[in-house]
Amino acid sequence: MATNLPPGYPVPPMPADALVAPQHLRDAKILVADDDPSVILVLRRLLARAGYTRVSFTGEGAQVGILCVEIDPDLVIVDLRMPDRDGFEVVQEVRELTGGTVPILVVSGEDRSSVMHQALACGARDFLSKPFEPAEALLRIRNLLELRSLHITSLADAEARYRDLVEGASDLICRTDVAGTVSYANPAATALLGAELVGRKFLDLVRPDQRDEVRGFYCDQLRRRTPTTTREIPLVVDGRELWIEQRAQLVHVQGKVQGLTGIARDVTERLEHERLKDDLVSVVSHELRTPLTAIRGSLGLLCGGVLQAYPERAARMAQLALANAERLGRLIDDMLDLEKLSSGKIEIDRRPFSLREIVRETVDTVRPLFEQGDLLLVVNAPEMAACVDPDRVGQVLTNLVSNAAKFSRRGGTVWIDADEVDGDLRLRVRDHGRGIPADKLESIFERFQQVDSSDSREKGGTGLGLPICRNIVKLHGGRVWAESTHGKGSTFTALFPGAVSMAVAA
Ligand code: ADP
Repeated sequence: MATNLPPGYPVPPMPADALVAPQHLRDAKILVADDDPSVILVLRRLLARAGYTRVSFTGEGAQVGILCVEIDPDLVIVDLRMPDRDGFEVVQEVRELTGGTVPILVVSGEDRSSVMHQALACGARDFLSKPFEPAEALLRIRNLLELRSLHITSLADAEARYRDLVEGASDLICRTDVAGTVSYANPAATALLGAELVGRKFLDLVRPDQRDEVRGFYCDQLRRRTPTTTREIPLVVDGRELWIEQRAQLVHVQGKVQGLTGIARDVTERLEHERLKDDLVSVVSHELRTPLTAIRGSLGLLCGGVLQAYPERAARMAQLALANAERLGRLIDDMLDLEKLSSGKIEIDRRPFSLREIVRETVDTVRPLFEQGDLLLVVNAPEMAACVDPDRVGQVLTNLVSNAAKFSRRGGTVWIDADEVDGDLRLRVRDHGRGIPADKLESIFERFQQVDSSDSREKGGTGLGLPICRNIVKLHGGRVWAESTHGKGSTFTALFPGAVSMAVAA
């Protein structure tokens, strides 16, 4: 090479350590395939002196592939002429086995340029003619190892970048093999679906009644090689049902389908909201339409003038319209109140307040109902302070006592009992009225749910009182429930945790 340079061209001196293996390359694995013992001897000494510690040798071309798999080398040095195998074939085999990621240095006694071209065309990264100068051999080896090291570092960087993305994603990311066994799950997936996810069959998580359908769906995707599919799938995790929306895509490795990668998100809440919204729209349209129809009917008769000769019937019609307009107003107020309570738009205003005062206001509010029904109200409430939102707790108590009155027989008795249990405030409302069937004890706390479909019309309720109570008690961190012996009466209990001890501390 130097002969092609113009005369007097300055060649800087080679750095003193140019032939020594840099620290980060000393552990690099080098595989040398050459049948010439003198070349092996030279390379063994040269590489050892330069500081390379992991060098393997073979004299047989047929061994190269096996050793490549075994030792996973960082550089393969191949002699083109070995007795048992064509060197070009060996080069190609190494390339295929390593996916072209491991550099190959071809060493050959042939100095025809066509041989060098052929070796480079087969995938060798560099070429060294025998006999070679030790310095040239060491520099080429070092450069090739440097290339490999850069390749590994950039691969590791890229992998770390993608791993960060996948592991930090809020979506659930899982991979399964073709048999559906989970081989990878990111932290979001294990947090939702359980730490033992890897090694499990994904289908085991699917709600049992849906398993066959979901299995068929995945099989179809794998058979038809449909690249991506999306569907909502119900799962059961620790006995709890949840829904995911999953996008599944095929995983290919060298053209072969190896399984599926699923990217999913938890849509349980969204589906629940959609269901609630649908229910609400249908119930609300019915609940609002009923009083409106009554109002329109009454006003229609009044406006038509047919009742002019019957002032008493006309007054009844006007009364009916008024009652229904009031019911409509109550419904709208309750719906808005419930919406604000359940969406967290309302904050409760807790402060120490006299329990007797709350009960007294309730008694004043419900007095007309009790007079109408000739009912007796018995109150057992000690003088104590409770740390609650007094208006909201009054609302709960008023609703429970009104219900007790509405569903009691004429002349019956309703009891309000208030006491303290381990620092909690317990309010109980008892009646000896018609009671509630066991299968309705929970559902009556849902919107528009009644024991009897005529209850809201006949008793003037909206079907929203108990859901409002439950939300208010929940905002205090407590719970409310009903107990009943059907036909013999009911007891509603609301528990406000720590309300008494908090008030005492204040
Ligand atoms: P409403 O405005 O209809 O009273 P609620 O949500 O307060 O709405 O109550 C829902 C239903 O629960 C009532 O319609 C009634 O069927 C039943 N219920 C509530 N309290 C009692 C009670 N003390 N005795 C019998 N049934 C009751």
